[in-house]
Amino acid sequence: MVKTILITGGTGFIGSNLCKKLINDNTKIICIDNNYTGRLENVKDLLAHSNFRFIEHDIIKPLEIEEKIDEIYNLACPASPKYYQNDKAIFTTKTCIYGAINVLELARKNDAKILHSSTSEVYGEPAVHPQREDYRGNVNPIGIRACYDEGKRCAESLFFDYNRIYGIKIKVVRIFNTYGPFMQSDDGRVVSNFICQALNGDNLTIYGDGNQTRSFCYIDDLVDGLVRMMESGDNFTGPVNLGNPKEFAVNQLAQLVKEKINPKLNITYLPLPADDPCRRKPDISLAKEKLAWEPKIMLSQGLDKTIEYFANFK
Ligand code: UDP
Repeated sequence: MVKTILITGGTGFIGSNLCKKLINDNTKIICIDNNYTGRLENVKDLLAHSNFRFIEHDIIKPLEIEEKIDEIYNLACPASPKYYQNDKAIFTTKTCIYGAINVLELARKNDAKILHSSTSEVYGEPAVHPQREDYRGNVNPIGIRACYDEGKRCAESLFFDYNRIYGIKIKVVRIFNTYGPFMQSDDGRVVSNFICQALNGDNLTIYGDGNQTRSFCYIDDLVDGLVRMMESGDNFTGPVNLGNPKEFAVNQLAQLVKEKINPKLNITYLPLPADDPCRRKPDISLAKEKLAWEPKIMLSQGLDKTIEYFANFK
């Protein structure tokens, strides 16, 4: 039997990698994107596939799809501070909230299973470390990141209410920093910035003193976690953390990228953006227990693959 999977944000970084992983002769992909941060170029190899259909659509507006849909991955939302803040802040909140309602209504109409990509940003500036799923977070509701953080928090609440009220089969994952091929070179995230700056022979830009930490998950590991979550039993709703628990300071990441591309590069220190979290590291015990998932690709290896992608992309 052919399965139909709808992926919102399907031309974005995570979405395009997921489309490639899932498509086959028995699986149809309906890829939805407004191409704000996604690019059709990311799925160009799939466009000729008879089981792939791209629909340009903004999930802020209701989705009308005639075909019967079995599974939905809701990945649509700008995720880089550079793209979700400033004049896009209200658009980001609408994408999170109206978008969640629209995809949930579609799931309801189709009796489809639906996975929502939430984020480590629901923990805000974490007061506990590492972050477990039962930690309720420390978000500044009026700060410049709130459009994303609070939007994603409200979307989680909508998913659980649709589950409680209508019995929709939901799956909520909280994605920590992810990197790899098909990120945009101008995405603004630290990994793509450092690699592209180094390949161009430019100074690496460190915001603040570089002692803030993140844990970086390679895209293939993340996509594997998403699929495992979708395929887990209906009674496991999450939320579940998906991320690499190995924590690195931004300074360490800069050092690694320099060593790999050009040790002579200099660093420019720039001001730390407001509300930039100091530390972030997932506790992935739940993903290990429920999904038998943990990342396999360590940062050095993942950086090599990502450097190769950007070096060939230019
Ligand atoms: N960052 C940096 N230089 C850059 C881009 C980002 O030092 O060119 C820092 C940023 O301030 C943050 C960390 O790297 O502390 C991760 O930033 P990113 O935007 O990749 O992810 P997020 O802040 O959403 O976790």
